[in-house]
Amino acid sequence: MMTSKTLNELANTTSVCDDYDPNSMAVEQAREYIKSFLTPIRETENLYLNTSLGRVLAVEIHASHNVPNHDNSAMDGYAFNAVDLTEGTTRLKITGAVFAGNDLTGNFAKGACVRIMTGAAIPAGADTVIAQERVEVDGAFIQFTDKPNRGANVRYAGEDLKAGQVVLNIGHQISPADLGLIASLGIGEVTVYRKLRVSFFSTGDELASIGSALKTGQIFDSNRYTLLGMLTRMNVEIQDLGAIPDNPALIEAALIKAAENSDVILTSGGVSVGEADYMKQLLQKLGQVLFWKIAMKPGRPLAFGKIGNAHYFGLPGNPVAVMVTFYQFVRQAMLVLMGQPNPASIPMLNVVCTSGIRKLKGRTEFQRGILSISEHGDWQVKTTGNQSSGVLSSMSQANCFIVLDEDVGNVEVGTTVKVQVFNGVI
Ligand code: AMP
Ligand code: MG
Repeated sequence: MMTSKTLNELANTTSVCDDYDPNSMAVEQAREYIKSFLTPIRETENLYLNTSLGRVLAVEIHASHNVPNHDNSAMDGYAFNAVDLTEGTTRLKITGAVFAGNDLTGNFAKGACVRIMTGAAIPAGADTVIAQERVEVDGAFIQFTDKPNRGANVRYAGEDLKAGQVVLNIGHQISPADLGLIASLGIGEVTVYRKLRVSFFSTGDELASIGSALKTGQIFDSNRYTLLGMLTRMNVEIQDLGAIPDNPALIEAALIKAAENSDVILTSGGVSVGEADYMKQLLQKLGQVLFWKIAMKPGRPLAFGKIGNAHYFGLPGNPVAVMVTFYQFVRQAMLVLMGQPNPASIPMLNVVCTSGIRKLKGRTEFQRGILSISEHGDWQVKTTGNQSSGVLSSMSQANCFIVLDEDVGNVEVGTTVKVQVFNGVI
């Protein structure tokens, strides 16, 4: 339903979306709207496997053969046929040896056994392996009293991957394990979607660039550096368009430049009340962009839409708000654009909070938290202290967001809260 509407129609047609209220958009609702206006990348490229980590498969991987491709031993020991187990002590003659990567020389003799190493192919005629620790060697014979089940210590052909099966689907992001899995099939090249192209710039008359001296009232532009870091982690192509003063003509020029060759444009600053007025006009002129006040803290103002074919996110200027809105909205949207239809969200865990937190109902808060292990060995979380959205050091100290939903009020010490862990994501 939503995808057939333009953003402006969406904004103006209350009958379609009774719950659309730009002044109080719930976090989940904003995510849904964003998701319905994304056009994922379709262009592909072929890569050598060893350069494909983090890329998204555009063609599925299937198994052309079994992995492993032969039954093999899980142990260093002796291979035999389970029919030759006898009451009490089993005694078998050692008639040969088979090592990983080599065939048994000669045939497997009935009623005997062969020495076998881990990974070596089970000789035809044998079906069971006993570990070397479980046997006593007596010259050319082994003897043991164990009664292993038929098939014990045998790894079967195809028990990892079966010939013909789909191993990894289109839209799967290649992980370190996947690199190994694809290699286990002998595949050296993969087809992936091309990288997402992301342009970004900061807005604000008060911004100075590193290297210049700060004049009264100026601050260094830190947002471009956090954005650079967050984007680099996402394995996208980055174009940094600098810090642009609050001048409509300059911002227009930067947006036009960015829209020419980007899939995504990110800006920071200029979307809060007061500043939004000329940004609104500008963005309406260049594309279709909605300005939302999201029921969240930090990160209340957010602009989203399209400029040409580029997806536009106007992030707030406050340094913490930039990071929170990036991780709560932009990251997930970018994963979809990169070709993952249903990207995994940042894991959310329940842990006991050791800080009391003052919190108003009616908005979602993303407090900066420090997760640690209590003396009883359980995970616990406390806040980093000052939660002002200008205090970027809170993000440096934090290793998680404490997520307090709309319907949560004040948090007493000892209450269980939800946390999103940064490790591996942020
Ligand atoms: P704005 O959303 O433009 O009203 O900015 C909100 C706050 O964030 C103001 O205090 C700005 O000075 C600050 N801010 C905006 N852009 C940046 C930036 N690139 N780096 C650091 N602080 C910023
Ligand atoms: Mg500003």
